Amino acid sequence: MIGTDDLPIRDELRGMSPYGAPQLDVPVRLNTNENPYPLPEELVARIAERVSEAARTLNRYPDRDAVILRTELARYLTRTTGHEVGPREVWAANGSNEILQQLLQAFGGPGRTAFGVEPSYSMHALIARGTGTGWISGPRREDFTIDTAGAVEMIAERRPHVVFICSPNNPTGTAVDAGTVLALYEAAQAARGGRGALVVIDEAYAEFSHRPSLLPLIEDRPLLVLSRTMSKAFGAAGLRLGYLAAHPAVVDAVQLVRLPYHLSAVTQATALAALEHTDTLLGYVGRLKDERDRIVAELTGMGYEVTPSDANFVQFGRFEGEGGARAVWQRLLDRGVLVRDNGVPGRLRVTTGTPAENDAFLAAMRELTPITAGTPAGTPAKENHR
Ligand SMILES: *Cc1c(COP(=O)(O)O)cnc(C)c1O
Repeated sequence: MIGTDDLPIRDELRGMSPYGAPQLDVPVRLNTNENPYPLPEELVARIAERVSEAARTLNRYPDRDAVILRTELARYLTRTTGHEVGPREVWAANGSNEILQQLLQAFGGPGRTAFGVEPSYSMHALIARGTGTGWISGPRREDFTIDTAGAVEMIAERRPHVVFICSPNNPTGTAVDAGTVLALYEAAQAARGGRGALVVIDEAYAEFSHRPSLLPLIEDRPLLVLSRTMSKAFGAAGLRLGYLAAHPAVVDAVQLVRLPYHLSAVTQATALAALEHTDTLLGYVGRLKDERDRIVAELTGMGYEVTPSDANFVQFGRFEGEGGARAVWQRLLDRGVLVRDNGVPGRLRVTTGTPAENDAFLAAMRELTPITAGTPAGTPAKENHR
């Protein structure tokens, strides 16, 4: 039997396995940070209408530059952040993962490096690898916030071409303050000199944050890029629509690597329909934030160490001893609740679901607490609380 590794694939891909959380068929799935609420019926009907319209001209290629969609995305950003951007400063693609890939194709690549502060969204490193870009992992503090001084020092020394900042950060939920962003931005420009380095803020969870968007920072900083998605707050993970906001020159640079007609007419029509219903969709965000805060409060009450969250998920622990986080993950799964083990030692991540799903998760955690009390696996490690 011939396997992938027997094929003449690139050396750096040999032995790798594809990225992705297990998609298990269990009653309560809280592992991929999706929005638990299906789209409202009126929006479903509007999508059908707009897609039918688009279908009439599917013999033609779609608008390669997606101008109407970019105009609406710019309007959404302006309205929700108070910082004015226009279509020339916005670019859209099939999920923000494609946005990040296009950025690395244009600004990274063989002989270049990208820097990220881990634990963070593992796709940053994986897309770097996929585009032949070297990867540099920067430091976080014990509380999972970015070690700004340490990161600045590392940037000065390693001189990356691209810097990733994820805020709110997946999987920890921690938001990054503007001061840290600016420190890393300045360090990256100073380190590279000349034309500078690209700094990408991944704001996939911005709508769930207690803090305002970092979007205003792109003003007068042509190498600062903000990446967003409709997969989380908009509840449209299946749509595959991500976008960026940056200086028009960055948008132009991405045109050099994007595939022609990368965004199908069906995708553009569906995204436009969803944007017509922004207020309804963002109505769920308020509910999810309340539920997120409830999960944080209840887990804290049970004695767990919970990382403050600005996202629609919560990182919790600390699980030590035999099996650690993995054993707790399995015990939850045995109770029909699927959470995520991101490989952060002693920690798990739970996505905010519907109130009923969150109740099921919290009930399972409560059941677990007495069972694990006094046994190594699953014991909340109080003595390490900080
Ligand atoms: C979920 C997520 C994305 C979204 O990717 P899409 O391709 O837009 O679905 C991007 N960044 C982070 C940090 C995420 O967690």
